[in-house]
Amino acid sequence: METKTSFKDLNLLPALERALTEQGYTHPTPIQEKSIPGLLLGHDLIGIAQTGTGKTAAFTLPILQRMPKKGPRTLKTLVLTPTRELAAQIGDSFSAYGEFLNFKHTVIFGGVKQGRQVQALTKGVDIVVATPGRLLDLMDQGKINLNNIEFFVLDEADRMLDMGFINDIKKVIAKLPQKRQSLFFSATMSPEINKLAKSLLTDPIHVEVTPQATTVELIKQHIFFIDRPSKEHLLLELLRQKHLTRVLIFTRTKHKANRVALFLNKHDIASDAIHGNKSQNARTKAISDFKSGEIKILVATDIAARGIDIDNISHVINFELPNEPESYVHRIGRTARAGTDGVAYSFCSAEEREYLHDIEILIKQKIKVEDHTFHSETAKNATGKAAKPAPKGNRTFSRNKRSNNRPKHGFRR
Ligand code: AMP
Repeated sequence: METKTSFKDLNLLPALERALTEQGYTHPTPIQEKSIPGLLLGHDLIGIAQTGTGKTAAFTLPILQRMPKKGPRTLKTLVLTPTRELAAQIGDSFSAYGEFLNFKHTVIFGGVKQGRQVQALTKGVDIVVATPGRLLDLMDQGKINLNNIEFFVLDEADRMLDMGFINDIKKVIAKLPQKRQSLFFSATMSPEINKLAKSLLTDPIHVEVTPQATTVELIKQHIFFIDRPSKEHLLLELLRQKHLTRVLIFTRTKHKANRVALFLNKHDIASDAIHGNKSQNARTKAISDFKSGEIKILVATDIAARGIDIDNISHVINFELPNEPESYVHRIGRTARAGTDGVAYSFCSAEEREYLHDIEILIKQKIKVEDHTFHSETAKNATGKAAKPAPKGNRTFSRNKRSNNRPKHGFRR
C-alpha cells in the first residue's frame, strides 16, 4: 500500500522525518501522500478512509508541523474520536511522531475516574484526543476550554453517528473558534455524514482511498460451512496448527465471546475476550497481552475491536458471521494492516447463510469454500427461513436503527 513518493518529498520538518525513520516508515501510504501536502498549506480536509490506511499519521504529522512552536502552552489541537481505544492509539501516534518536538498531549475518555485527566489538563497540554461524552463533561465543569483551538479533527464520523454522538459533536463544534483548520474522516459517506462535514469544513480538499477493494483483495479468505455445535471443535483443530501465530476471533455477542475464550482456556489455549461489559483495565490488559504475545488468541465483538491497532495478526477467524456485511470488511481488514497480506477464516452455519450471501454481494466476490472434517452440506445449501436466525420471541430489534433502515443488499457508501 506504500506509494513511490518518499516521506522526504513531503517537506516535513526534520524532527518529524527523524520520528518516521525511528518508526521504520520510509514511504507515505496513499492517504498520507494525498492529504499531507494540502494540510501543510492549511486547507480543510474531508477524508474517506478506514482504520488501517495510515490515516492517523495523515493528520497527526501535518498538525504537529503546523502547530506554533513558540509561546505559552495552550490547547491548540482537539481530536474527537468514537472509542477509548482509538483515542489511546491516536495519543500514541502523537507521542511517536512528536517525539522530537516539545508538545504535550493528553487523552480523555469516559469509564475511568476523571482525576488524572483533569490533572494533565491543569498542568497544560497542546493537544487533546477525546471521546465526546467525557469531553463535554469536562467542558461543562469548566475544566477545559476550546477558545484557542486552531486544529480540529473529527475521526470516524460515521461510527460517531452510529453510536449516537451527533448531538454531543454539535455541542463541541459550537464551542470551537471560527478560525481553525478542520479535518473530517469517515470510512463511509451518506447524506447525513455529508451534511455534518459541510457544517464543519470550509472549501475542503477531498481525499478518498478505497481500502474495501484493496484490503479485501489482499486477504486470503476461506469459508467453512459447518453445523453450529461443531464450531468449537473446528476452532480447536485450526488453532492447533502452528502457522496461526496471532489470531483475532470475532463473535456477534459478548456472551459468545466469553464462552469461546473460556472454552479455549479449558483446552490449554491461552486466550482472552474483549467486549463492552469488560472494564477498561481488563480490556487494556487483554490487548497488551495479545500484543506482547502472552496470549495468542483474542476473542472480540465488533464494537470492542474497532480501531484497535495490532500489527501482525496472522489470522482473523469469524466464529460467527456479522449481521452487517460492512462489519465483515472491517473485521478481516485487521489482518492486512498497511499493505501486508493476511488470512480470514469464516464459519458459516445454516442460519448464517444469508449473512454470507450479503457479504459476498458487498465484496463482489465468492469466498473460497474450504473442505474440512466438519463440513456441512445443510449449512451450505440452506435457503429461505433455514438460512436466517430463528425469530427471537417477542423481542424487537428497534435498538439498532441502522440495520432496520438499511435497504436489503444495499451498499452503504
Ligand atoms: P491507521 O490507519 O492510522 O490506524 O494506521 C494503520 C497502521 O499503519 C498503523 O499500525 C500505523 O503504525 C501503520 N502506518 C502508518 N503509516 C505508515 C507508513 N507510512 N508506512 C508503514 N506503516 C504505516
